[in-house]
Amino acid sequence: MKTRFAPSPTGHLHIGGARTAIFAWLQAKANNGKFLLRFEDTDKERSKKEYVDSIINSLKWLGIEPDEKPLFQSDRINRHKEIALDLHKKGLAYSCNVSSERLEEVRKIQQQNKQQPRYDGFSRDLNLPHEEGNVLRFKMPLDGITSFEDKILKKISINNKELDDFIILRSDGSPTYNFCAAIDDLDMQITNVIRGDDHLTNTLKQINILKAMNSELPEYAHLPMVLSSSGKRLSKREGALDILEYKKMGYLKEAMVNYLIKLGWSFKEQEIFSESDLIEHFDIKNVNSSAAKFSQELLDFYNNHYLKESNLEELFVYINGNFSLSEKFMRNDKKFEIVDLMREGSKNISNLVDELTFFYEDPDISDELMKNIQIDKSLLDSFKEELKEVDFKDKLLIGVFIDSFLTKNNMKFPLLGKPLRLILTGKSNAPSISDLLYLIGKESCINRIDNYLNS
Ligand code: GLU
Repeated sequence: MKTRFAPSPTGHLHIGGARTAIFAWLQAKANNGKFLLRFEDTDKERSKKEYVDSIINSLKWLGIEPDEKPLFQSDRINRHKEIALDLHKKGLAYSCNVSSERLEEVRKIQQQNKQQPRYDGFSRDLNLPHEEGNVLRFKMPLDGITSFEDKILKKISINNKELDDFIILRSDGSPTYNFCAAIDDLDMQITNVIRGDDHLTNTLKQINILKAMNSELPEYAHLPMVLSSSGKRLSKREGALDILEYKKMGYLKEAMVNYLIKLGWSFKEQEIFSESDLIEHFDIKNVNSSAAKFSQELLDFYNNHYLKESNLEELFVYINGNFSLSEKFMRNDKKFEIVDLMREGSKNISNLVDELTFFYEDPDISDELMKNIQIDKSLLDSFKEELKEVDFKDKLLIGVFIDSFLTKNNMKFPLLGKPLRLILTGKSNAPSISDLLYLIGKESCINRIDNYLNS
């Protein structure tokens, strides 16, 4: 089996493209096959080296490496032209010099008659010699149907009458997209074409090219779109972002891969998949035939899962290497325990790093926050005095002290917990009070309480 991913380097890799790449890669890996990469870069104006590099880096981040050197469509133009001219020689394509005015006239009449606008085959049987300035058109079969069994969408067919004799070589001699793609898949010996369902019509054209070349057809699998959570096109806020932006925000590769494959694929009730699970179970035919919907919550859920599951020391090194932790934090001898605690409630690493500040810096207690702190100052003062005597080596002892303080003062936990959390962290949702006291440390906690009492 040989699959390929064929991006046009006219932009960064987004969620939809990344999913296509993963599915094509996994289909090859699950079948001991090869996965290839082809840049469809014939649009010189819009294709950029910057995007080639960015796509390669994105794939690398996701753990996808092609098994052969990437191929650039633009390097193969001579081969495409040669085949187009050969098809002409064999009578499978024809030269056409119909003026744009005539094409326009025909189109108008077709529109008036409520027909699908298409080339009317004027030059089809004129046997014109091919010369510069003419286009080469492919001789589509005039009757019958073109059909194939899509691995996901099942039977797809079209009446050949609906397909027009499309141009394979433009008047400037450049080959067209559908023609190049078909020839490249053939030359790369691709056995399984996996791509977005926006290419369905292209597939029907490409099949006819391959048939004219007497080639066996690859198997096709067309992936339904990924839509926004409200069923519209993806927007910048939802998925239409360079996938590497997610890396920058601190989404882990494992989470992103797990999330992407779940956009349409499932295996029993399983939610969490390691790479080896995927290679064992993936089969493109189990991809859902209806559109998948982007969900930020689900992506956050997977990321939180992998943040919690990953090896703490490795995660720490990764965080420090990619998100530069402050020197003050790095000097904290409880830094591993702090990250371990904070990853519990984090959806991504930037969010986690932001939340580390209060472990090494006294929080800014704004006036707004001040208003929310409601506690009897003399009670807080006695809490502080007693806290000075508590052994901070063991978190459990801190918990026991808090319980006994509450009982002695006949208080419910929130009356102490809520204001204390604000005083210690400046935030209303932060970890448990005993975790906070233990990890911020006795001295800083006493200072912060004093700051409040003296304010
Ligand atoms: N270059 C096409 C795209 O970026 C993909 C074509 C294909 O996979 O055949 O949508």
